[in-house]
Amino acid sequence: MRILKAFLVLALLSGSAAAVSAGYTPDFDRGVDVKQAIQAALEAAASAGGLLPELPGRQQEAGPVWVSMEKSDVGGLDGALFKAAPAAQNKRIVIYEFDADRVAELAAGMHRAYYRAPGFFAHDTLESALEDLKAPRPVPARAYAIDQAARVKELLPLVKEAPIVSAIASLSAFKNRGSRYATGVDASKWLQKEWAKLASGRPDVSVAPFKHAAFPQESVVLTLRGATEPDNVVVIGGHIDCVAGYGDTLAPGADDNASGASVTQEVARALIEGGYRPAKTIKFIGFAAEEAGLRGSADIAAAFRKDGVKVEGMLNLDMVNYKGSAKDIYFVTDNTSPDQNAFLGKLIDTYTEYTWGSFKCGYGCSDHASWTKNGYPASMAFESTFEQYNPSIHKPVDTLAQTGGRAEHAFKFARLGVAYAVELAK
Ligand SMILES: [Zn+2]
Repeated sequence: MRILKAFLVLALLSGSAAAVSAGYTPDFDRGVDVKQAIQAALEAAASAGGLLPELPGRQQEAGPVWVSMEKSDVGGLDGALFKAAPAAQNKRIVIYEFDADRVAELAAGMHRAYYRAPGFFAHDTLESALEDLKAPRPVPARAYAIDQAARVKELLPLVKEAPIVSAIASLSAFKNRGSRYATGVDASKWLQKEWAKLASGRPDVSVAPFKHAAFPQESVVLTLRGATEPDNVVVIGGHIDCVAGYGDTLAPGADDNASGASVTQEVARALIEGGYRPAKTIKFIGFAAEEAGLRGSADIAAAFRKDGVKVEGMLNLDMVNYKGSAKDIYFVTDNTSPDQNAFLGKLIDTYTEYTWGSFKCGYGCSDHASWTKNGYPASMAFESTFEQYNPSIHKPVDTLAQTGGRAEHAFKFARLGVAYAVELAK
């Protein structure tokens, strides 16, 4: 399987199976024929007997997990999911103990009933879950200024579609990036190696895994250290795991969320290529275990708060490559920072020709919620309105082929990401 994967990636990057050779490095500046590359990868996979000759074993998680969710969501779910009375509750939020193995069933139920994923937080301990019953930590108000036009306009042309396509294709070639799958661990390791390549030759850029106690998949963190205010941190990220129902299924997760992780990478790649040295530190994060209850981002945001890290802002990219609505970019208005959302809208108006809108996403909607509840200004940029998002997600058909092998829509988010990074990390 590893040979197949390596072959796939090489075939994809080289644009032709015949050109595969060890040590090949794609040169995006000289151009990669995206359509040809995708076709070659698909043909290589087919000739090797298909993408999924066998399915990976799941690592069992020992012990219980505590889930916090909105009470109003419980009624629409199959009662059989809940084996016992709530462990705790307040007027709005309820906490249940779950067998760790059954959290995926809850996630699938939430997706079926409300089209939300996951829509809850999963916690390693009851103590951590009880925190969700408290009033959320206030997000301090802050002013935003847009005054880096020269730098942004210099860096924006460096953003390219081809590297985004390549990263989505590679990530979605893993059979299932679930946080407890061997292939989910492999995908994280693969991303760490890719990001380490970006860091080479830049002593101010480093890559490290963020390890989680409760599951084997690691989050991936690329740090672009700030030149003058390194303790102030801007976070851009998207989850790397994926899901397709529950059980041992093929889950390419191209749009949800290889797209957001790949855009995160492209923002970093473009800034590094442009020799950009921010005043503040920028952390690019591929979050583990979002689909399992926002567990990766919750661990990281809580660790940042515990360590007193000053987070200037967080931009979450979760599903960005399917244009389902009239406008280009949509922002989630609940569990996010209204000020930062307005700032992002202004960035779009100032630096791009794109249009934008907004919608509500609900409790525990994606990784931005982990940052908001820790008192950090967070936003979520999304591909469409809530009603019109990609119908293929959480299914084996969430492939790059669904967007014609292109990342035209995701490309817009990468340009927004560059503007956001430069105007916030100044
Ligand atoms: Zn997602």
